[in-house]
Amino acid sequence: MSELRVRFAPSPTGYLHVGGARTALFNWLLAKNQGGTFILRIEDTDVERSTSESVEAILEGMKWLGLEWDEGPFYQSDSFPLYKEYVQKLLDAGKAYKCYCSADELDAKRNLAMQEGRKPKYDGTCREQTSQPADRPYVVRFRAPQEGVTSFDDLIKGVITFPNEELDDLIIQRTDGTPTYNFCVVIDDATMRITTVIRGDDHVNNTPRQIQLYQALGFPVPQFAHVPMILGSDKARLSKRHGATSVIAYRDMGFLPEALINYLVRLGWSNGDDEIFSRAEMIQKFDIKNVGRSASVFNTEKLLWLNAHYIKNSDPARLAGLLLPHLSTRQVTTLAGPDLVTVVNTLKERAQTLEEMADRAVFYYNAPETYDEAALAKFDKEQLQAVFAAVIAKLSPAPVTEAAEIDLLFKEVCSENGWKMGQVGQPVRIALSGGTQAPGIGEIVATLGMEETIRRIQRAREITGAQ
Ligand code: GLU
Repeated sequence: MSELRVRFAPSPTGYLHVGGARTALFNWLLAKNQGGTFILRIEDTDVERSTSESVEAILEGMKWLGLEWDEGPFYQSDSFPLYKEYVQKLLDAGKAYKCYCSADELDAKRNLAMQEGRKPKYDGTCREQTSQPADRPYVVRFRAPQEGVTSFDDLIKGVITFPNEELDDLIIQRTDGTPTYNFCVVIDDATMRITTVIRGDDHVNNTPRQIQLYQALGFPVPQFAHVPMILGSDKARLSKRHGATSVIAYRDMGFLPEALINYLVRLGWSNGDDEIFSRAEMIQKFDIKNVGRSASVFNTEKLLWLNAHYIKNSDPARLAGLLLPHLSTRQVTTLAGPDLVTVVNTLKERAQTLEEMADRAVFYYNAPETYDEAALAKFDKEQLQAVFAAVIAKLSPAPVTEAAEIDLLFKEVCSENGWKMGQVGQPVRIALSGGTQAPGIGEIVATLGMEETIRRIQRAREITGAQ
């Protein structure tokens, strides 16, 4: 194991968002690439907004994506005594102080500053006070350096510098004794010996404050890599308004985890012009320095393209297992009817998602009750009757089971009667599946079996003949 230690630190206030998943992926990849350690930390100090359902949803999303962690999950809510200890250390060292200014006083000062066109920053009333009232509520503030700059060399964005005069004395402990967000993050990252912090660039503004805390506490400062946001097609930050943003929603829509992972890795990171990466390739090629500086736009079409690629190249037995929940929501049971792996083999070349595959698999198990009328209307009624009769006559005595052999029988029907393949194949496809969106005719017949095929064509013959 190398010294590299990274972490993914989601706040459990909702499901695992694709943006969060990408941050987790970049951390995981760097750890794998360097033989480092990937830690999962649940940032649940906001008790009002954190829920155990969210924790479960996040863990479920991580597991589904295969982003297994080496340590954790650690919960910040388990570390309150630790945070308190460090607040006390800063107080003892004079690097933090108790502030007794009331919320009303602070509001008034803030309003005045805004009216006068000044930055609303804590004015330091309690900073230098030596005698302090014992009986009034207080917060603890960090005594931030007021001069100079705080600067860091971000692995993605380059050098970022903040003038210290713009950063006021951060509250590290509230009046109820609970620690605040930025303080907990620093204590955790320091005590977990995190060497590289990879997170969304919405946290860039927290970084100088966090660095000042590391320095005050005498901890080594980690490296930072702030990943640009993911945007929707209108260039606004990706949100529900643009479509699904939850990792689990993508699973439920029939995406394969390897497709989503492959999609997410390319959202911001590149390796030449390559688009398709196996997990092993990603691990081998990943370098945080190749993450771009600008935001990326989420492109569902490309995700669908990748998903189709992975479906096409997946083991059909695995796909069959993954397809089952999608079939049961369609009231399909596969106990009776053709073998599901065979069915998958007829569909995997063309499906973009498992949902689409499930839609197309239904007819194999549930015989069509209605037919695509518009498609049938393209054929002359008598001609339909003749086609169905000829096909039944040709198939009934034939002891064939292979798709290619069955296709030959259909060719014979065409040549014997002077029909074109479209005149025969389409009506039979409608008879067997209800519509025209179905695999090759030989494949369907081979999969359904001769008996069921003839039963279905017979039924279509009766129904279209009686109309
Ligand atoms: N909990 C923060 C979030 O979910 C992440 C903080 C960090 O990575 O430093 O945005």
